[in-house]
Amino acid sequence: MEQLLPKPTVEKLWNDSIPLKNFHIFHNRRSIALAMDEGGWAVDRSQMDSLLVENAQSRGVEFLSPAKAKLTACDSHRRSVEVIVDGAAQTLRAKVIIIACGLGNQAAGPFEQFQSTSAQNSRLGVEAVFDTFPADYRSGDLAMAIGSHGYVGLTHIGNDRLHVAAALDRATLQNLGPQAAVDQMIQQAGAPGLPQSNVTWRGTPPLTAGAASIAEDQVFVIGDAAGYVEPFTGEGLRWALENGVGVAPFVIAAADRWQPQIAEDYRLWYRRTIAARQKLCRRLSHGLKRAPVRWVAHQALRLRPALADSIIKQLNS
Ligand SMILES: Cc1cc2nc3c(=O)[nH]c(=O)nc-3n(C[C@H](O)[C@H](O)[C@H](O)COP(=O)(O)OP(=O)(O)OC[C@H]3O[C@@H](n4cnc5c(N)ncnc54)[C@H](O)[C@@H]3O)c2cc1C
Repeated sequence: MEQLLPKPTVEKLWNDSIPLKNFHIFHNRRSIALAMDEGGWAVDRSQMDSLLVENAQSRGVEFLSPAKAKLTACDSHRRSVEVIVDGAAQTLRAKVIIIACGLGNQAAGPFEQFQSTSAQNSRLGVEAVFDTFPADYRSGDLAMAIGSHGYVGLTHIGNDRLHVAAALDRATLQNLGPQAAVDQMIQQAGAPGLPQSNVTWRGTPPLTAGAASIAEDQVFVIGDAAGYVEPFTGEGLRWALENGVGVAPFVIAAADRWQPQIAEDYRLWYRRTIAARQKLCRRLSHGLKRAPVRWVAHQALRLRPALADSIIKQLNS
């Protein structure tokens, strides 16, 4: 029988959310705890998603779920999208289309320029939520264990659970599987172990990917579908939300009258805001793949903890 869950409210989301105050790095059996001035919040993703949908619906958005959408054609005035709901296909036509399909690729249909392609050697992500929060971790910490084949972030989330998300080299993940690969990184780093319970691990497509074109002919691509890099302190949601808000003026202008300059302006805005922060993230995770860089970074942060705060602020500013 389907369990009836309490309806999410904004108050409940905030009550269940936990402010992040420290960035606690574990590496090579040593650890540093760095204060985060504007550390963000650990939120329950399903609650937040439900509230976003509800909010959109209250403003007139029609939400079809589950649905599969695919860009199909364009003529001089309208773009077409095929939407399949309950096995029945319908074609919707609109002046402007926004592709926001995450790291998946099917929404772009045959339009290769909007499809996301992954970078060579990109790491893969895995995620799990444990029902217990180990006493050795601290609430309000974003703990990060850095190993030789990736890194794993651990956070206390509502209802005393532990959220674990890792970026891992493909070969390690294939050889060991998610649980053993994450355990190995945690051990190498000297971080407290995971709770002894069975969890379901969720995998992701390659974590560094991007579309060749993020705006063209009345189509905009946003969020992970536009571009994503291996996250460092959990920036993905922030970038996706910022992109959703940021694309609005361009969409409004395009719905009024499409001009190629609108695409040009959006690309420029995206480069200056989201892509600029992703570039820093990419450099950090690329650097951390090399042992000497990891060692130097660790020493630098021990001597100058303010460095981390400045980096986190730049990533999330
Ligand atoms: C395992 C994992 C852990 C993460 N942990 C964090 C974290 O701790 N902090 C953080 O900030 N970020 C995290 N992220 C990243 C964050 O989830 C994403 O950056 C963010 O959700 C991107 O938002 P989006 O709207 O672009 O895509 P998504 O949130 O992926 O949304 C895309 C939606 O489109 C739907 N869709 C796809 N194709 C179609 C189609 N053809 N038709 C209809 N619908 C379609 C999908 O089902 C999905 O609902 C994590 C990601 C993963 C995968």
